[in-house]
Amino acid sequence: MKKALLLCVCQGTCPSFKDMNTMEILNRIRREKLVDMVALHPQLCADDGDIFLASFLKDHDITHFFVAGCDYSMQRKMFRDAIENSGFDKSRHYGADIRNMNTDQATDAIKKLISETK
Ligand code: SF4
Repeated sequence: MKKALLLCVCQGTCPSFKDMNTMEILNRIRREKLVDMVALHPQLCADDGDIFLASFLKDHDITHFFVAGCDYSMQRKMFRDAIENSGFDKSRHYGADIRNMNTDQATDAIKKLISETK
């Protein structure tokens, strides 16, 4: 059983992410061992993001797939093809909208999502 967290930040240029330290967020989650793996991606909804996602989900025996970035309903639409192509169970994808948050707020939102997920 592996839990994975990806942080996606709209290329790092979107003002919605300007008040957070993304590496610090990932380090906090890592230090508390809340998931088994973390990664930062600049744009999961781009074509190469699709390729990355499909490969990542297919090859890593992931049971819980957390994405912190934009709204969960947007994530579901944008990742639909990649998740289908990977054969991953889409009901195991969980999303946190961390836009317009600072480091502490985004960390708390991710922790809440993880703690509420069975
Ligand atoms: S998946 Fe969401 S957070 Fe990531 S680049 Fe696309 S719109 Fe931005």
